[in-house]
Amino acid sequence: MPIVGPESLAQVCETLLSGRAVALPTETVYGLACNALDPSAVALVFDLKGRPATNPLIVHVRDAQHAASLAGDWPHEAELLSARFWPGPLTLVVAKGTAIPLIASAGLGTVGLRSPAHPVFRGVMEICGLPLAAPSANRSGSLSPTTAEAALEAMGLPDLLVMDGGPCAWGIESTVLDLSSGTPEILRPGPIGIEELEACLGRRVEVGGHGASPRSPGQIGLHYAPRTPLRLADRLALADVGLTFEEPSAGTQIQMPADPVRYGAMLFASLRVLDSLGARVIVVQRPPQGPAWAAVNDRLLRASLR
Ligand code: AMP
Ligand code: MG
Repeated sequence: MPIVGPESLAQVCETLLSGRAVALPTETVYGLACNALDPSAVALVFDLKGRPATNPLIVHVRDAQHAASLAGDWPHEAELLSARFWPGPLTLVVAKGTAIPLIASAGLGTVGLRSPAHPVFRGVMEICGLPLAAPSANRSGSLSPTTAEAALEAMGLPDLLVMDGGPCAWGIESTVLDLSSGTPEILRPGPIGIEELEACLGRRVEVGGHGASPRSPGQIGLHYAPRTPLRLADRLALADVGLTFEEPSAGTQIQMPADPVRYGAMLFASLRVLDSLGARVIVVQRPPQGPAWAAVNDRLLRASLR
């Protein structure tokens, strides 16, 4: 059985300790996890995902102390933010310590660190005692999985162990915040918004332009995309296949919540359903602008670049 429950914790940890990969639930999306300290395990994850070697992995840790031990430098801002938002959907980019192999950080001198909240992921880290590199459990460029079934399907590997932790609460990837230069800068919008970050730090936070930051190589161009081309529109036509805020006019339309958090939690699963219909195009009614919608709008914009 590739999809397993908590009874398989020992088998999952053994697999990780032997340098192989497993799919694990986090509160953001399902991740393809491996021992972050083992360069050949990390190489395997890049290979299984078809991920470009230039796109760094996020390393998952137990807590701030664990993070600091893997960082080359753990600035005061990292201390404040981790105390406030960890465990949770915030990745902090800081100078890399020597224990993390260069392949994990795509050759960069920095590393993205995050302490996830999902009890299954935390249980695995606790038992195997390793920091885990875990990019989303899908082939590079496609939709992130938010259920165990979607992770298994998205990787297309019949023997892959996938630990079931239920549907992901956030359903959207972590906020990535760069603390490695003078000014904190959001490299990827996510569940933790700019206002919360600024309030915690008591200072301004910059927003990296779309794909503009050379420090965030994975954020360039098309990403998070269904196979079917995706187009944004002010509203859906009668026969469109897509996501709408209004009363659906066809069975191929999904009505989305007006709340950005609930919208984000449904987004990838909904696109997966529509993607399976083999339509010519998926039309998505443009969500509102504003900070609360930044993560959703970022994913939709990037899914529409083709
Ligand atoms: P994923 O694992 O697919 O959610 O993607 C992780 C993303 O986090 C990457 O695509 C980068 O944009 C960002 N990231 C991770 N590590 C770093 C780093 N050291 N410097 C800049 N961005 C990073
Ligand atoms: Mg990904």
